[in-house]
Amino acid sequence: MIYIGCHLSVTDGYEAMGYTMSRFGGNTFAWFTRNPRGGRTKPVDPEDVEALLSYVKQEQFGPLVAHGSYTMNLCSAKSETRKNGLEMLKQDLERMELLPGNLYNFHPGSHTGQGTEAGISLIADALNKNLKPEMRTTVLLETMAGKGSEVGGTFEELREIIDRVECREKLGVCFDTCHTWDAGYDLIHDLDGVLTHFDNVIGLGRLKAVHFNDSKNDRGSHKDRHEKLGQGALGMEAMKRIALHPALAGHPFILETPNEDEGYMREIKTVLSWENPG
Ligand code: FE
Ligand code: FE
Ligand code: ZN
Repeated sequence: MIYIGCHLSVTDGYEAMGYTMSRFGGNTFAWFTRNPRGGRTKPVDPEDVEALLSYVKQEQFGPLVAHGSYTMNLCSAKSETRKNGLEMLKQDLERMELLPGNLYNFHPGSHTGQGTEAGISLIADALNKNLKPEMRTTVLLETMAGKGSEVGGTFEELREIIDRVECREKLGVCFDTCHTWDAGYDLIHDLDGVLTHFDNVIGLGRLKAVHFNDSKNDRGSHKDRHEKLGQGALGMEAMKRIALHPALAGHPFILETPNEDEGYMREIKTVLSWENPG
């Protein structure tokens, strides 16, 4: 069973996202917990969320993947930015409790000159302040391209964060195919090797979601520019091998490709056709 979907806007509410994804032909989706520029969020209507939960259950959707704000930087050198990040994380996780059993993924952060070690330690501190054993959400660190001072551009860095978090059972990883490629992992010629390396360093048991993107740039470019499936450096054959790899089976695949609605519908159809050829 492939769970495939894309990012949707939460503007029309939660239940509406379920219907939109069905219209797109998919069976999971992602959304930003707040507008990308940060700032205040609309209060959540619990009835709307309830309606979504019963809809996705009825339609047998895979786990849903909320995405934390890009402005949330838990390891900035600026204490004000870190403080805002902590507040966002706290609010987002409180809100996620309305959608029990789903996933919340975020970019670990950029250390903005303090060094990777300091970054890792600040991210782990932030998680230790916010992850609770009674939480029903799994929090995912996203694999990053290693752009600028980003933390999480190697599996080892993610492992370091995880090692320092007490409530580790609530922690997983979201594998972004564009980012790992841009970070230097060879998903074209050595997919098995990359996933074995992931397993050795982090453990495949932590891999809970995939961001399914082609990349505009060469391997190791550290750029982070997503491309439509099959139109980038990874290419359609590699994307197909990733989608069908047994180590990734059963997890939600989220498209973050530069598309309009029709493009997402086409890509969802393509991915589903790999599973059921003919
Ligand atoms: Fe992301
Ligand atoms: Fe991503
Ligand atoms: Zn990206």
